Amino acid sequence: MSYYDVLIVGAGHAGAQAGIALRQAGFEGSVAMIGDEQYPPYERPPLSKEYFAGDKSFDRILIRPASFWEERKIDMLLGRRVRSIDPVGKFVTAGDEEIGYGKLIWCTGGTPRTLTCNGADAPNVHAVRRRDDVDAMMATLDSVSHVTIIGGGYIGLEAAAVLSKFGKRVVLLEALDRVLARVAGEDLSRFYEAEHRAHGVDLRTGARMDCIEVTDGKATAVLMQDGERIATDMVIVGIGIIPETGPLIAAGAAGGNGVDVDAFCRTSLPDIYAVGDCASHANRFAGGAQMRLESVQNANDQAKVAVAHILGKEEAYDAVPWFWSNQYDLKLQTVGLSTGFDQTVLRGDPATRSFSVVYLKGGKVIALDCVNMVKDYVQGRAHVLSGAALDVAQLADASVPLKEVGLA
Ligand SMILES: Cc1cc2nc3c(=O)[nH]c(=O)nc-3n(C[C@H](O)[C@H](O)[C@H](O)COP(=O)(O)OP(=O)(O)OC[C@H]3O[C@@H](n4cnc5c(N)ncnc54)[C@H](O)[C@@H]3O)c2cc1C
Repeated sequence: MSYYDVLIVGAGHAGAQAGIALRQAGFEGSVAMIGDEQYPPYERPPLSKEYFAGDKSFDRILIRPASFWEERKIDMLLGRRVRSIDPVGKFVTAGDEEIGYGKLIWCTGGTPRTLTCNGADAPNVHAVRRRDDVDAMMATLDSVSHVTIIGGGYIGLEAAAVLSKFGKRVVLLEALDRVLARVAGEDLSRFYEAEHRAHGVDLRTGARMDCIEVTDGKATAVLMQDGERIATDMVIVGIGIIPETGPLIAAGAAGGNGVDVDAFCRTSLPDIYAVGDCASHANRFAGGAQMRLESVQNANDQAKVAVAHILGKEEAYDAVPWFWSNQYDLKLQTVGLSTGFDQTVLRGDPATRSFSVVYLKGGKVIALDCVNMVKDYVQGRAHVLSGAALDVAQLADASVPLKEVGLA
């Protein structure tokens, strides 16, 4: 059986950062990264943005050049999927190979949620999670004129922006009464709905689909519960992910929606850490609520925390959450977590396409969504960190820089 002092499972954002952090800290033990994709770690956000739009090649979205891993003596065991973990014997099974570990860092992200209706498995029904998903879409795009996107979250909206720029006829179906309902307040949702419609996207909220019509093995229409038939050449499904925790939970790790980790990213199993999209943690920016965060920031910061702990430093995870989304010429930057807000303050006029939404809870700033408003994003961070109760009238006045807004 081969053995590594640190074995990283999952060669995505969190896995890559774990490997980088180990070597940056001078760790000299043996390290391997097992990944079930064929590729060294690459950035996932461009899959619905610059890579999908053809503006960036795959080489440009690699987290590090392929040679980096070899130079740092990190063995890349790619194209292999870990199927089970023996937490007592301290080894994993990938294919028919058993690989022993001293410490294990589980960084497996999530698998796209799929539709359960008829037609959901047709070859032109796509998810957007991996390079292969996007390459499969791009390979057929020339022969596609009508695309139906299921789900009005960030990925669905970003895909709609790229496809409408390509001149495709896009219908976007959101089951709830507004897009981005899980992650943002109504001001932001309505703004993005209007933007997409202005770009020609047929964006529908409260849209109830029934199933997918398949003709000659291909999806040809989305059938709605009210009987409407939406003809389509391609379907894109962006309805969230299911955390990839099967082998860990089967090995006895505590978890439900993700695997539970403590402030140092330790699971309930000895010497096993979990990091990134799959890790459920108590987040102080959500009042200590248990949650998974699906962001590059979280993957990177948790990986550093786990590595520090492996190297003997107790640095609890306490990073300010941040996120971004690019649609058309709009750059959205978010800081903090808006979950549970009871008041919003609008700074600036959405009609100018440059504004921010400040989220408050009990009078305290908990998050900001900034559209083409880098200054607010940068200055708002300090308010989120301090949880300050600010003067709402000044907050609503976009001519007052955020850093100068006084206390309530
Ligand atoms: C299209 C898209 C756009 C996004 N845009 C943004 C954005 O704008 N901003 C932002 O902050 N975040 C964005 N995200 C989210 C961000 O990419 C994720 O939060 C981040 O990738 C999480 O990193 P991770 O390492 O936890 O998971 P991943 O990066 O998904 O890596 C997990 C890896 O583990 C592999 N794996 C899974 N199970 C096994 C197994 N059993 N054995 C071996 N390997 C396994 C997976 O195949 C994958 O390669 C986006 C995500 C997507 C898909």
